[in-house]
Amino acid sequence: MGLINVSKLAIRTTRRWLYPLSISKLWLSSKSGLLGDKNILLMGLPGAGKTTVGKIVAHKLGLPAIDVDDDILETTWKMPVAAKLAAVGGKGFLEEEGQALCNFSASGCVISLTGSNPLHTEAMQHIKQSGLVVYLDVDSEDIIHRLSRMKVNRIVGQEAGASMRDILLYRRQFYEKWLDVRVLCGTGDTVEEVAEKVLRTVERYQKHDEETYVSTRCDSAALSDEKTYFSDVVVEGLAADGGLYIPKNGFPVIDAREWLRLVSMSYPERALVLLEKCIHPLEVSALDLRSMIFKAYGSNFSSDRVAPVKHLIHNQYVQELFHGPTASFKDLALQLMPQLFAHCLPPMCNYLILVATSGDTGSAVLSGFSRLSGVDRHRTGVLVFFPEEGVSDIQKLQMTGYSEGNARAVSVLSDFDFCQRTIKRMFGESGLTGHLAVEYSTVLSTANSINWARLLPQVVYHSSSYLDLCRDGVIKFGEPVDICIPTGNFGNAMSAVYAKQMGVPIRKVICASNHNRIISDFITTGEYDLRGRPLLLSNSPAIDILKSSNIERFIYHVSDGSSSLIKDLFARLDTEKHFQVPEPLLGKIQQEVLAGWCSEDDCLAAIRSVHTQTGYVMDTHTAVAKVVADRLQDGSCPVVLCSTAHYGKFAPAVFKALQIQNIPVDPVEQLKKLEITASRPEVHKEMVKCLRDRDRRGHTVCQADYSVLAEEVEGMVQDSFLKVM
Ligand SMILES: *Cc1c(COP(=O)(O)O)cnc(C)c1O
Repeated sequence: MGLINVSKLAIRTTRRWLYPLSISKLWLSSKSGLLGDKNILLMGLPGAGKTTVGKIVAHKLGLPAIDVDDDILETTWKMPVAAKLAAVGGKGFLEEEGQALCNFSASGCVISLTGSNPLHTEAMQHIKQSGLVVYLDVDSEDIIHRLSRMKVNRIVGQEAGASMRDILLYRRQFYEKWLDVRVLCGTGDTVEEVAEKVLRTVERYQKHDEETYVSTRCDSAALSDEKTYFSDVVVEGLAADGGLYIPKNGFPVIDAREWLRLVSMSYPERALVLLEKCIHPLEVSALDLRSMIFKAYGSNFSSDRVAPVKHLIHNQYVQELFHGPTASFKDLALQLMPQLFAHCLPPMCNYLILVATSGDTGSAVLSGFSRLSGVDRHRTGVLVFFPEEGVSDIQKLQMTGYSEGNARAVSVLSDFDFCQRTIKRMFGESGLTGHLAVEYSTVLSTANSINWARLLPQVVYHSSSYLDLCRDGVIKFGEPVDICIPTGNFGNAMSAVYAKQMGVPIRKVICASNHNRIISDFITTGEYDLRGRPLLLSNSPAIDILKSSNIERFIYHVSDGSSSLIKDLFARLDTEKHFQVPEPLLGKIQQEVLAGWCSEDDCLAAIRSVHTQTGYVMDTHTAVAKVVADRLQDGSCPVVLCSTAHYGKFAPAVFKALQIQNIPVDPVEQLKKLEITASRPEVHKEMVKCLRDRDRRGHTVCQADYSVLAEEVEGMVQDSFLKVM
């Protein structure tokens, strides 16, 4: 209880800091128009439609329209803009244009900026204070087309020799710097449609208080006045009633023309546009989101395409989700999540995240949090406990690289359950949490896969795989694709369901289990049954899961948000160890997802046969997806297999599958040998590097004792965070 209340309280009292008081107060209290006294400032490339759209928007809102070119520059200069440009040249023009804007002020208007205004810092700082900057984001090719129709062949600031394409690209960085909100314009959008989008975007901005989150176990009719925002759900993780957070109004739906715009974009650009639509700009501004996304996906993935899709065989494609620093798909979420987390924290508190892991989560969390910088790093830390004997050699080496700083791993002479239980106990010990809060202003927290900030980034790669298939000409936008996912906690699969909700034409999400097949049994029978079901060892340990936490979000989704059903089912699961969903609901579940499971032998056989046929080496989890896709997919459309780990991470099982004898003892030698065998995919350089450096590290090994682990926690807090004076 202490944990949740402390953070909630802190957020409530500091929420005011998140957005400029003047803006929110003024806008919300206004009776006329959307933004009251504030201006709507339309920004974009020449030819983006700022003037025409501005007039329509102004007309609809009953506000005056001001065009900077016609109404400010020409009246100030008393000559046409073209004449001024001819008289003073490009540089002089930008300066005089900027000065004219600096001397201008207005309120409650729709103002269409010039294409070059954003190049003048002082002018933009001045005008941005007066309102909301709306970026009309139009494709460069469309702009070039329009300009040539308008017989414009040069624009301001275009030096001799520079192509129009280059100059448009150069301009974009300024728009990306100043925007408050983006209006993504599709090819063929009419000015009326763009104006409508502007109105909806401004409205969304203003109605921040409607973009809230609810718990899957909370009766929405009984909702109190207490509103839960994005920042709250990221920091809290689990809702106080034990449910999982979901956006109250569901996901934004993106139309086909907008999706088509994303086809030619890079992965980080796609991520930015999609996440801007899912995170309210007053929670994380577009500029902050941009810098987080480019930090997460800019250069620390070994493929510059981040999550590339490659043809495997027949109608099957693999999406390689293992190019991140720790070689599993968890990096896609965990390179971004820590930045969102740090951003959402209330000021003045330190946060220590405790993680128990027996697999890929530990290294991904450590890598993500260790990359925080500045203030974020000084007040956000992560401590990972892993069972000394319960993780693979490679996983251990990936974690023990972190022994100091704000991200650390220590092992425990016990099993995963002990680590997990001990962390839970720490959260409940008010002696410990109170001491940390008072002495070090430190709050304990978690970062597990139910956190909204871990699910959301995963929606991007499912969208991206579809867009890649469009870009590569495999499908046309609108044609169906299936996605097959090795499933444990159902986080990855749930994100695919959400991508579908946003408008990605995914036909079926296929969930693949290994012989721990509780999810595939649930989806085929509607019964979730923990009784008499011991956890079996497998070659795909990351999906050895019985309590699949995100399944709660899925049932909530297919039951159209029935919190009473959720409460009933999960109470039953606690007491009776099983539940059965009603028949009609099972039908709905099966409309969304298919499921199957794969035996240990079939998994290894698939790795071998795919290697023989194509030279491609799959990891064991990818192989589980391959086997299930072969069995369940009808071949009538492409299927994307989610490759959730690099084969090198599960080297011993891969050797067994490929029937390679004389396996070297040294893990680096093992990877080398596999690299020779596999013609695809390429070796994971970061993993090799981590193994090479291994001799330089030792790690702390703890006795299986609560007080020993609690001391580790306090020790880390002591030397990571400043003591309260
Ligand atoms: C975590 C993990 C999974 C399971 O993902 P969920 O979102 O829990 O279903 C699958 N494969 C690998 C390699 C993983 O690390």
